Amino acid sequence: MPSETLQKKEKLVNCSALFDFLSTNKFNAKREAYSLLKRIGFNCKKYNYKIPTFNIIKLLRIIISLAKSVFALIFYRFYYAPENSKINLNVIAEQIPNKHNKITLAKEKDLHGNRLAKIEWNIPKISWRSIVIFSNKLKYHLENIDGVRVTLNEGVQIKNLEYSKDIDPLYHHMGGCRMSEKLNEGVVNRDLQVWGHLNLYVCSSAVFPTSSHSNPTLTILALACRLANKLSKYKRKH
Ligand SMILES: Cc1cc2nc3c(=O)[nH]c(=O)nc-3n(C[C@H](O)[C@H](O)[C@H](O)COP(=O)(O)OP(=O)(O)OC[C@H]3O[C@@H](n4cnc5c(N)ncnc54)[C@H](O)[C@@H]3O)c2cc1C
Repeated sequence: MPSETLQKKEKLVNCSALFDFLSTNKFNAKREAYSLLKRIGFNCKKYNYKIPTFNIIKLLRIIISLAKSVFALIFYRFYYAPENSKINLNVIAEQIPNKHNKITLAKEKDLHGNRLAKIEWNIPKISWRSIVIFSNKLKYHLENIDGVRVTLNEGVQIKNLEYSKDIDPLYHHMGGCRMSEKLNEGVVNRDLQVWGHLNLYVCSSAVFPTSSHSNPTLTILALACRLANKLSKYKRKH
């Protein structure tokens, strides 16, 4: 994550980065292990419950490779990766609310005759600017480490006007019933209660006032526990 000083100086939204190991080897132990075990399972009956020799050799290679990973993780605190592997650097950025982003019902219908959802979603420029500045800072600091080279995607430039093509969504649907301090600024108050309704609550990532830069589920669970406590106390009283 960028430091608070950098965030204030450059006016960045919240961002974070994570490493994603990419093996350029044809042999990827983890992926191979899953598919091989599945194949062995399916073929068990076919081979009269005997595993063919070629599968045993492959299985041994996988076990050795996975054992190396576990060894490196336990003793050196790093994940073993073959020499020519690469690491993807994924940057995740927060989005500030935009009243023009919305979900409405489309005219088109699905197979069951229900109207499809129509999503209008624009990624704010400030998120892109934050991604570019943060990525360049990361590159600078990471390249201070011996042997590390970072190649940023060509599109990672502030002047890239079609930046949304270089951004992938992250499956974290949020907002729509945002939490607010004041009635006219959102849908629910700080207790998840819908403004103006005594017995209506929303407990979901829908109440997030902005999209975070990180995974939402633990926050949703914390909100759910807090609401459950509140409602159980209310039930005991009445
Ligand atoms: C592929 C994927 C990977 C993810 N990975 C992670 C992750 O690793 N970590 C993380 O923190 N988050 C992850 N998320 C995000 C996380 O799943 C969501 O943020 C979270 O589920 C949101 O919870 P919610 O209760 O707000 O909404 P939902 O989980 O979407 O629940 C809404 C519920 O309402 C129901 N519903 C909708 N319309 C109606 C209706 N008209 N009547 C009755 N019921 C209705 C739906 O069936 C659904 O059960 C991931 C999401 C996806 C899609």
